[in-house]
Amino acid sequence: MSEDCIFCQIVNGEIPARTVYEDDDVLAFLDANPLAPGHTLVIPKEHRETLDEVPPEPGEMMFAAIHYLTPIVEDVVDADATNIGFNNGEAAGQEVPHVHGHIIPRFEGDGGQPIHAVAG
Ligand code: C5P
Repeated sequence: MSEDCIFCQIVNGEIPARTVYEDDDVLAFLDANPLAPGHTLVIPKEHRETLDEVPPEPGEMMFAAIHYLTPIVEDVVDADATNIGFNNGEAAGQEVPHVHGHIIPRFEGDGGQPIHAVAG
């Protein structure tokens, strides 16, 4: 727990969030500023800033949750596809310094960019 971390505060129930999944290691909730309907964030409950700081087991649980949740999120919002990604570190655009995976539903003709468009 990092006291000034907004996602730790969500884990502890100090800040409200729309939780879509929770287990001992992982929490998933709807992004407060969604890029698309159903935009979901998946985080390890334990505070780690970047992926390299996450121990193997919570890391595996986080990816397992992403694997489990992605088709459910797609189904709920009737998406055609999803972008799944991490802004891993400040130089990569990470704004909240608590590891989080984005599940972003995509729709045919939505005009969005593929994830590789952000680099290069
Ligand atoms: O990957 P990055 O750090 O840029 O993404 C942070 C995400 O956390 C943003 O999509 C933002 O909307 C979301 N957020 C949130 N609830 C907060 C603060 C940020 O869902 N209280």
